[in-house]
Amino acid sequence: MAMSTLPEIQQIEARIESMGSAMRSEILEYSQDGDLRLPIYKVSFGTTDPQAPVLGIVGGVHGLERIGAQVTVSLLNSFAELVRWDRQMQRTLQDVRVFFIPTVNPIGILRKTRSNPRGVDLMRNAPIDADKPARWLGGHRYSAKLPWYRGKENEPMEVEAQGLVRGVQQEIKDSQLAITLDCHSGFGLQDRLWFPYARTQDPFPELGLAHSFKNLLDQTYPHHFYKFEPQAGTYTTHGDLWDYLYLQHQGIERGKQYLPLCLEMGSWMWVKKHPSQLFRADGPFNPLIGHRHQRTLRRHNTLLELMIRAIANPSVWAALTAEQLDQHRLQAQNLWYAGVGFRR
Ligand SMILES: [Zn+2]
Repeated sequence: MAMSTLPEIQQIEARIESMGSAMRSEILEYSQDGDLRLPIYKVSFGTTDPQAPVLGIVGGVHGLERIGAQVTVSLLNSFAELVRWDRQMQRTLQDVRVFFIPTVNPIGILRKTRSNPRGVDLMRNAPIDADKPARWLGGHRYSAKLPWYRGKENEPMEVEAQGLVRGVQQEIKDSQLAITLDCHSGFGLQDRLWFPYARTQDPFPELGLAHSFKNLLDQTYPHHFYKFEPQAGTYTTHGDLWDYLYLQHQGIERGKQYLPLCLEMGSWMWVKKHPSQLFRADGPFNPLIGHRHQRTLRRHNTLLELMIRAIANPSVWAALTAEQLDQHRLQAQNLWYAGVGFRR
């Protein structure tokens, strides 16, 4: 029997039903292929003050990496329960906003494809060219039949990408301090937190802020398991949607701070313990065994909590003096860009 929706979407819809006015919801776009049509939801909590600090969690951009959507829905569900009973959290939400876009590429999730139904890799689809992109996987315009296809030149972005961009922009545009976390999974033995850029190995303007956030994470949870690093340290790519959102935001020019992060869950941990997973299309990207799947779903609760507290307490790490910011940039330079020319 062909499935016409996703359990992840059903969970979001059940959540919308049960939360009433404590949560706002919106369908950003529909992803469509023939008769199949699936909604891309955004849900948000907290203040509607456009300038308030904002945190956004995103998942399911690469359909094959379904665990990203599942982690996002799981974080949404836990957070929504806290919103119900935790008065501290309710007070926090008077000052900040938290939003979730868990299934950016729902048909991709349904069909276990990385790309959207038109064969476009959404994370290569933004109108941005990289400096020295990785061959093939950095994005190409040859054919939608090949992975990492960017789409045709000078065409609008795919509807799924447009929905994501609009949904994020609505939330962060005038915010004084925004963090977004986009949940993916891929090869590697460790969970990584990537900050921009994807398009170039040059440091991005808010390197100091990124380092300050890493510092907060290290000091608060010294035994955390994330590797925090620039995305382009691994490879550079065309068309990254977060590069695009960051550049469009023009936060620095407007006195606003924005830190777009990607969580790249290290899927080799799952494959190493269960190598036969390699023989399934979704095997290399997802924890297929029950207990490992459960563990992955709860693995990032602490990170969510830290990010909420971080946006609610900007004075501790984000409202830096010029001197503190310089210190962080210098430390970041030594940590991540040693040997690379330092640009301001
Ligand atoms: Zn991905």
